[in-house]
Amino acid sequence: MEQALPESCDNFRMQNIPSAIQGLVVGAVCGDALGMPLEFGAPRPLNSLCREMIRGRLPAGSFTDDTEMALAVAQSLLTHSPLDAQDLVQRFTTWYQFHPPDVGIHTSKVLNLVSQGMRWQDASLRIQQDDPNSAGNGSLMRAWPIAAARHADLGLLIAESRLQSQVTHTHADCINACVFLNLVLADLIHRDQSKPPNLSLRESIANSLSKVSLGKEFELMLELAPVRQREQLQNSGWVRHTLEAALWAALNSKSFEEALVNAVNLGNDADTTGSVTGAIAGAMYGINAIPERWKDALHGEYPLHSGRLWFAKDFIQLADALQNL
Ligand SMILES: [Mg+2]
Repeated sequence: MEQALPESCDNFRMQNIPSAIQGLVVGAVCGDALGMPLEFGAPRPLNSLCREMIRGRLPAGSFTDDTEMALAVAQSLLTHSPLDAQDLVQRFTTWYQFHPPDVGIHTSKVLNLVSQGMRWQDASLRIQQDDPNSAGNGSLMRAWPIAAARHADLGLLIAESRLQSQVTHTHADCINACVFLNLVLADLIHRDQSKPPNLSLRESIANSLSKVSLGKEFELMLELAPVRQREQLQNSGWVRHTLEAALWAALNSKSFEEALVNAVNLGNDADTTGSVTGAIAGAMYGINAIPERWKDALHGEYPLHSGRLWFAKDFIQLADALQNL
């Protein structure tokens, strides 16, 4: 009997892995689309929080560059495994050349140089040298496909998380943030479902901090994130602010929906923080915790101008393909 228990626990855990990965993928896209209309705005007052997919610069439910670039990572990985940086940067560059309505400044500068024929290694380094303190969230927002595919191989997860950042974002904080987020997501995918989700997340954060050296300041910021007051969160495009806000949002909620409402109503970089929070909360709570009304509204086109439309069911298929890689 004593030997049977761990096995049945393992079986139970295994059954939840596909749901956690689907939750992670659809959750990330939901957060992007829910945050889209709130991006660059002030934090919403607590008495008028946005809880619905509404129209912004784009129609209600539209995903943005966060999801488009993540789709490039996912499709590159599904075509070339392990991740091939040259293939990935080619996909980013093709996307960039179609003039996406959203593209980060740092990403745009690097892809512009690559478009002119510069090697990505040189372009990425050059733009970082021009602004050594630039450490935006442009590589963090597209990192989640690596966790969906590599949750059972942490060595590969770390190597590919680093590489997918380096092609545009070489700052140590950017690279480490991608590794940290994906370690947290992988840990959550395998979480013990008998534990409260918030306890699992706290444990995943501690486990992940022990595997990546963020540096004292960054680490302290993440450790303090859950006890921050809402007014203290700047939620800028700085990668540290994005992770801080996402951990605050996920840890100060009891459901997928509440986590995302917390995140996107911070305004500012609402879509990216929504996306990162959605990946975390989706992995914590699973696909069935994502509100149907949000899933029903999700849509977008990728590659740009290809006519290929993506809906929630397509992201569920993508999640299954990534986990079967
Ligand atoms: Mg965006």
